[in-house]
Amino acid sequence: SVSGKIAVVTGSNSGIGLGIATELAKNGASVVLNSFTDRPEDHELAEKLGAEHGVKAIYVKADMSVGDECRALVTTAAEKLGRVDILVNNAGIQHVAPIETFPVDQWDRIIAINLTSAFHTTAAALPIMRKEGWGRIVNIASAHGLTASPYKSAYVSAKHGVVGFTKVTALETAEEAITANAICPGYVLTPLVEAQIPDTMKQYNQSREDVIRNVLLARQPSKQFATVEQIGGCVVFLCSAAADQVTGTTLSVDGGWTAL
Ligand code: NAD
Repeated sequence: SVSGKIAVVTGSNSGIGLGIATELAKNGASVVLNSFTDRPEDHELAEKLGAEHGVKAIYVKADMSVGDECRALVTTAAEKLGRVDILVNNAGIQHVAPIETFPVDQWDRIIAINLTSAFHTTAAALPIMRKEGWGRIVNIASAHGLTASPYKSAYVSAKHGVVGFTKVTALETAEEAITANAICPGYVLTPLVEAQIPDTMKQYNQSREDVIRNVLLARQPSKQFATVEQIGGCVVFLCSAAADQVTGTTLSVDGGWTAL
C-alpha cells in the first residue's frame, strides 16, 4: 500500500496528474502537486485534497521546461515532507503539425517538458530514494511511446524517449528496492486532448464527433476513453508490493490500441 508514502506528481493541477495525485491521497499517501503557475487556486487545490483524504498535500510551483526547477521540485518536496518515496513524471504538452512546418520552439518545449524533465527529477530523486532504501518511479508515457501517428513528431519522439529512459532507470536501480516503469495511456479525455480536437478537426476536415470516433478513438478498439481514475489506480498498483518485481516495463491502458 502507499499509505504513509510521500509522492511527487509533476504537472498535477489538472487532468491525469491530478487524477493520479487524488488516487495516491485516497490510498493514504502524502502528495506534492505541481505545475508552472503559482495561483491561489493551485495551493487551495492541494489544501482541499489533503483535507479530503487526511494526508499532507502541498503545491510546489516549478516549470518542468527548466532543468533546475525540475530538480528543485524534488529537493523542496523532500525538505518540506521529509523524503520522496514515489516520483510520478506526468507533466506533458502536445502540438500537432506536419514535420516541415512544425514550430521549432514547440519541438524544443515538448522534448524539454515531456522527456528531459523526467531525467532531471529522477536524477534529483534517486539519491533520496537510495538513502531511504525504497523508491518508485512511474513515468507517464503514452500509446505514442510505443506507436506513432502523423503530425505528432515531437510528442512521439519524446514519449518513445520516456520509455527508453524508464528502462535505463530500471537497470541502474535493479538490485535496489527501487523500480521504474512507464504507463502508456491511450486517449484519456483531459484538457490536453480537448485542446487538440480543433487542430485535428482542421487537419482531417471532420466534425468534433467524427474526430473523436474516427481519429482519436480510431485506434482504441474499446471505443472508450480511459479515465484519470484508472491511470491513478495503475500508479497505486505499481507502488504496491505486488509490483516489487515489475520494473523497466510499460503498462498499457489503451483499450487494446497496441494489440492492433
Ligand atoms: P493536461 O493538459 O490536462 O495536464 C498537463 C499537466 O501538466 C497540467 O497540470 C499542466 O499544468 C502541467 N504542465 C504543463 N506544462 C508544464 C510545465 N512547463 N511545468 C510543469 N507542469 C506543466 O494533460 P493530461 O492529458 O492530463 O496529460 C498528462 C500526461 O499524460 C502528459 O504527459 C500526457 O502526454 C500524458 N498522456 C495523456 C493522454 C491523454 O489522452 N490525455 C494519453 C497518453 C498520455
